[in-house]
This record gives sequence, C-alpha cells and structure tokens, in this order.
Amino acid sequence: MKAAVLRTFDRDLQIEDVPLALPRDREVLVRIRATGVCASDLTTIRGKTGAELPLVPGHEAAGVVEMVGPGVSKVRPGDRVVLSWAPNCGQCFYCQGSHPTLCDTYGMAAGHGALWDGTRRLGPIDAPIAHYSCISSFAEQAVVPEAACILITEDVPFAVAALVGCAVTTGFGAVVNDAGLRPGESLAVIGIGGVGINALQAAEVAGAGVVLAIDIDPAKAALALAHGATHFLNAGDPDLPEKVRALTQGRGVDSAIECTGRPSAIAQAYHLTRPAGHVVIVGIAPKEADLALPAIGFPGSKKRLIGSIYGGGIPERDIHRILDLYRKGRLKLDAQIGARIALSEVNEALRWLEQGVLARTMIEFAA
Ligand SMILES: [Zn+2]
Ligand SMILES: [Zn+2]
Repeated sequence: MKAAVLRTFDRDLQIEDVPLALPRDREVLVRIRATGVCASDLTTIRGKTGAELPLVPGHEAAGVVEMVGPGVSKVRPGDRVVLSWAPNCGQCFYCQGSHPTLCDTYGMAAGHGALWDGTRRLGPIDAPIAHYSCISSFAEQAVVPEAACILITEDVPFAVAALVGCAVTTGFGAVVNDAGLRPGESLAVIGIGGVGINALQAAEVAGAGVVLAIDIDPAKAALALAHGATHFLNAGDPDLPEKVRALTQGRGVDSAIECTGRPSAIAQAYHLTRPAGHVVIVGIAPKEADLALPAIGFPGSKKRLIGSIYGGGIPERDIHRILDLYRKGRLKLDAQIGARIALSEVNEALRWLEQGVLARTMIEFAA
C-alpha cells in the first residue's frame, strides 16, 4: 500500500510503497477513507515531541473494515468505523478506574511505535516502520487494535467521522469532562485551531454563559464567533486581563481551556481564571518546555490545573454523543473541513497548518 513515511525529523514525508502485515489476535485491517492533518502530527514530524523513526503519522481517521484477525468480535468486514487513537484495554489500573485515555497497554505500545503486543505490522520484517498512536492513517490501510474501532452509521460522512476521531472529541471533552462546565458558567478558550473551535461549540451546547475566544490572530474572530464564542479577544492585547474581568463580574472566567501548548499561553490561562476555577491544559508543549507560575498565590487561589488528553472521558461513549449532537444539527462539523486532498499532497497540508490555516485539511482516499 501507499503510505507517507517520516524518515528524518523536520523533512517532508515520503510517499512510499509500504508492506502491511495481516492483522493478528484482536487486530483489524481498515481501509482508510479520510484522515485529518492535525497539529499533533505536525509537532511529531517537526521532531518536537520525540518518536521512533521511520514512522507513518496520522491519527484522526475513519474507514471501512477490510479484514479481522483472530478473536475479533466487535466489527466485521464492510463495517464503517471511526478510529480512536487511544484504544484502551479495559483491564489495566487506569481502564478499571475512570481514566481509559491513560490506558497502560496503549501507552506502552504507542511509546514504542508498536501495537498492543509490542510488535509492528508496518514495513519490511527486517526494517519495520513505527506506528503512530496505534493508527498510522497517512496510508491507504492500517492495522489497528480491535478496541480502536468505533462503529458509525451510513449517514456520517467519512471526513466528519475522521474529524470526530481527534479534534472534536478533544475539544468537546476538555469542556464537558475536564472543565465540567455547568449551564451559565463562563469559559475562555485560548488558541482557536482545530481543537479550540470544538471547545467553543461544546461550551455552547453545554449552556455556557460568556464564552471568550482568545487568539493572537484577529483573522480567527469570525470563525470563533460563528462557533459559539460570545466575544473574541486578542491574546497580545496588554489590556486582556482587564477586559476579561470586565466581562466576568470582576472575577475572571470559571474555566479556561488552553489549546496552544505554549507555556506563556498556559500561564495566561491561569491568570485569566477566577479563584477556585479550572485551568484545563490541552495543548502539547515542546519537549524541553517548562511551565512557570507564581507559586506564592497558588494555595490561596484554590485553582485546579487539569491535564486533558483526548477529552479526558471515555472516547467511545463521547464519540457517539458527539455524533448524536451532529445529527441534531447542534454541532457544526462539515464546515470545519477545508481542503480535501490526496495523500501525495500531505506535505503542503502540513505547511498550511504551520501557517495557521483555519479549516481542517482532510486527506481522502477512494473506496
Ligand atoms: Zn489530533
Ligand atoms: Zn488499559
């Protein structure tokens, strides 16, 4: 099959013919139909987070089951699926608690660029290629754990399903699960990209009061206001703290969602949040970055700093909830998809993402 392979950090992906082994126990071979180009792919490709090379990136995807390995009962060939990029085992400490996105089995596999049994299906046997988040969807096909497959119905386009596979679930869950937003509460979203837009929409669906979209790029105002923000504020405005307090009875927001991964933006989220509020950190920082916050006021602030990965809930449950809201017209997802391209144009899409293009670029494959 054709796949986009990263052989050197910060270089273009190469479109190569890559062997793909058959699915083993409780694995599924999926023909990819749509895969989004997400900021996490870009961060990895630029070498900012560390990963084993060579690697096939891509983790926001949907497709059709083509073949199942031994012991698979959840899906059959022909089923349409969206892929969870944090498939959870259901057996480990975190799965048995309430944190399946922290699954140990998945974490070990993904950390080694492998599937759950510690081995790879991508590439020649003597020179295997690393999987990315057990998905590697910048490719015509993928072998994934059965647990990654979430059935979808005919009425959900593959591109929308793919978007729900990462950006929507991450932004929605940050608001609904990790900030625990209640009706009427105020929220700030810092960083209006693929995740931030969906945090804004989730705030509207969850009945938020004041919803502040904050970004350094004023060109994002219209998009933010069309997706649930009540106000757009410039992150570089020296009067930003006063403006936020003026909109929140002088206190600061009840919760802030930080989507950029820049330590300065995380500190900004902290300062804009009221005492005893929730600061939810979603953005992935570069690997050498530290977070500096004033320590003296922290005990008295009673603020909570909350790390949020993949929406912090139960991905399969949340993906079905999101698709129900989409069917009801409560979540606008089709309009978030911009260019639809072929796999061969993936490097262009990565550059658009770097330049701050607003809509999601979707790589699509014919049936
Ligand atoms: Zn993503
Ligand atoms: Zn687990």
